Amino acid sequence: MRLIVQKYGGTSVGSAERIKNVAKRIVETQREGCQVVAVISAMGGVTDNLLNLANEVSRDPDKRELDALLATGEQAAMALTAMAINALGGRAISLTGAEAGILTDRAHTRAKIANITPRQIHALLAEDYIVVVAGFQGQNADGETTTLGRGGSDLTAIALAGALNADACQIFTDVDGVFTCDPRVVSGAQKLDEVSYDELLEMAGSGSKVMQSRAVEFAKKFGVEFEVRSSLKSDPGTIAKEETANMEDVVIRGISLERNQAKVTVDDVRDEPGIAGRIFSTIAAGNISVDMIVQSVSEHGTTDVSFTIHENDLSGATELLTPLVKEVQAAGLITKAGVAKLSVVGIGMRSHSGVAARLFDCLGKGGINIQLISTSEIKIAVIIDGQDADRAAQLTHEEFGLAKFVPPPSN
Ligand code: ASP
Ligand code: MG
Repeated sequence: MRLIVQKYGGTSVGSAERIKNVAKRIVETQREGCQVVAVISAMGGVTDNLLNLANEVSRDPDKRELDALLATGEQAAMALTAMAINALGGRAISLTGAEAGILTDRAHTRAKIANITPRQIHALLAEDYIVVVAGFQGQNADGETTTLGRGGSDLTAIALAGALNADACQIFTDVDGVFTCDPRVVSGAQKLDEVSYDELLEMAGSGSKVMQSRAVEFAKKFGVEFEVRSSLKSDPGTIAKEETANMEDVVIRGISLERNQAKVTVDDVRDEPGIAGRIFSTIAAGNISVDMIVQSVSEHGTTDVSFTIHENDLSGATELLTPLVKEVQAAGLITKAGVAKLSVVGIGMRSHSGVAARLFDCLGKGGINIQLISTSEIKIAVIIDGQDADRAAQLTHEEFGLAKFVPPPSN
C-alpha cells in the first residue's frame, strides 16, 4: 500500500470550515487505497497571537516556556483535524511531535531534528488509522517540548516522509505551487511542474517564501522528493527534487523579488587587513543579518564596502557604524533605504553563457539602474530602486521567455 505524508499549512486549517475540508481530502486519500500521515500547522495567525501574548507578559520570554506555549497551536489544530476526520466516518488519532517520536537537540525555538523513531506511527498505520501529527515540534533528550523555527511544520513533514520512507510527500498550501515569479506582480507567471532543491533554496533566499528553507535543505540532504500544491484545488502542484539532466535546458527557472531592503556603504575606508572584519562584527553584534556584500576596487589605498540589510535594520546599523566610521577614518557612511533585490535563478546558468549580459541589457533598455550585483553558481541578483521592482520583474520575465503563451483572441 502507498504511504503518503501530507502537510497542511495554517491557512489551509484556518477555520472550522477549512479543517472539515482538509479532513475530507485526507479521508479521500485513504479511500483511494493509501496510508496517510497528516502533519498539521497551527490555525493561521495562532502562532503570532501566542508570541504577542508572550511579549506582553514578559520583556524577554524564556525560550523553554516559549516552546511550551507555541507548541500548543499545532496541538489544538491536530486534535480538531482528527475530530473532523472521525466525524466523517474516518478513523484518526492525533499525536504530538513527542508522541510521533521526533527527538531534537536542545536549541529551544530553533531546534534541529536529531532522530525520529516512528514506532507509534507504524503501529497505528498497521491498524488502519489515519495518523495526524502536530507540526513544528519535538522533544529533547530530557522530554522537554522544543519547536523547529518558524514555518517548521514543513520540516516535520519532510523529515517524517524520510523516516517513514513514504511514497509521496505533499505540502498543501494556499498557493498552487512554485511560480516563475510572483503572479501578483507578473500576470503571465506560470506554475512550474518541477524545480530542483537548489533552485528552490535560492528562490527561498530571494524572497519567495513558499517553503521553510531548513525543510528544503533537509529534503536535499536526504533526497526526499515533495510536491507543493493547493489545498483548495485538486490540480497537481510543483515537484521539488534532485536535479535531472534535462532541467539544465531551461536557462532561468524563476525570478524573485525582495523588497524593503537598504543599502549601506562605508565610503573610502583604508584598504587594510581587519577592516571588513570590524565592520561586519559590529553589524553582527547588533544581530542584524546582512545579505549582499560588495567591496570595490582599491584606489589610493582606500576602498568602498557596500552591503544590504532589511530596511527595518537601517537605523540600528547606522547607529552601530557611525562611531566605527570615525574610528577607522573612513570618508563617511552612505545609506539608502527603499531598494529591492531582483534575483534570477536557474541551474541552466551553469551550461548557458551570457545570462548576466542578457539580464543587464534588459534592465538597461528599460532604463533601470543597477546599484549592486552579486552572483552564485545558479543565481544573479541585482539591487535596484524599489520603485522599479515590478517593472524589472516583468521585463526580465519576458526576456527569459518565462511567460505563459496566451493564444491571440479568435474572432
Ligand atoms: N505555526 C508555526 C509558524 O507559524 C509553524 C508552521 O506553521 O509551520 O511558524
Ligand atoms: Mg570611493
